[in-house]
Amino acid sequence: MTLRPDCSKKSWRFFLWFWLADNRGMDKNSVSPQNQFHVCDAPSALQCQDCFVRAFEMIDLDSPQWAELQTAYGTASEVPAMLEELYAGRAEPLDDLFSYICHQGSIYTGSVAALPHLLKIAQAVQIEDLPEFKVDVLTLAGAICESAEFTPEFYTPYIKKAFFEEALVLTLATLREFSNSSCALYLLKAAAAFAGHPGLARVLDGFADEEFSTSCPTCKVDLYIWPALHGLTVAAEDPVVFPDTERLPVVAGEPAESTYHEAYQWVVQVLGKIPNQLSLKEGVKALFGKATCPACKHEFLLLDTLMNDSLA
Ligand SMILES: [Zn+2]
Repeated sequence: MTLRPDCSKKSWRFFLWFWLADNRGMDKNSVSPQNQFHVCDAPSALQCQDCFVRAFEMIDLDSPQWAELQTAYGTASEVPAMLEELYAGRAEPLDDLFSYICHQGSIYTGSVAALPHLLKIAQAVQIEDLPEFKVDVLTLAGAICESAEFTPEFYTPYIKKAFFEEALVLTLATLREFSNSSCALYLLKAAAAFAGHPGLARVLDGFADEEFSTSCPTCKVDLYIWPALHGLTVAAEDPVVFPDTERLPVVAGEPAESTYHEAYQWVVQVLGKIPNQLSLKEGVKALFGKATCPACKHEFLLLDTLMNDSLA
């Protein structure tokens, strides 16, 4: 049996406090004298239906809990004010909020607590009124979910499965409506993260940079993978410095031996439902293809190699 706060009285707050206490090595009995304990047979709050439902409620913007959460710059106390601005349809705080809660790919407890709010904000925006604002909010939510630090252990106290389902539905609907190519890329990245393909979401950054950098798995020479008219090409010398260097096309498609078979099936289905975006579609299919190193002529699976780099 486990002692935990009374499920019937705002126990999600206590659960969060407990989670924080666990993670900080605090003595639970010394900080919250007014706690009312009940006896629950479940070995963890996640297995008690009542605790479970309450543990995942969204943290109100006026909750003192934000001061217990973290961002890149300390506590998350300033996050609610920024979210409130976004709720009002004002995009100005987005850049700052990005720095606070998704700092160069690093995320914090405040980032994950902000996610349900970001989804609610994006759901409220009509795309015909503020299309880029909606895309930017979904992009921030996606960037949090594609972080290598976004593990179930980390997000479980704040995020339920329904979040991912709703975020994915909204992002795919927005993607089908929106024709701007850079927005389409960021929406595809966010959709991949919400659909459980965070590695693919990270690798897709190469399309924003117009270059994927890796090295040949065999001869280790640096490779420059660039978007081409149709798909991608591989060079073993920087084409900026050596414009005449050999650029071998990547053979698009899904090699049977790829580790990322499911991600390929998913992304092909998504791309098949969006209008236009031909170069993105060809580029993404090439990403799952076979590349040839111009230096040693060794063939390798491009995405598998890029994915290994993204985890290194
Ligand atoms: Zn090579």
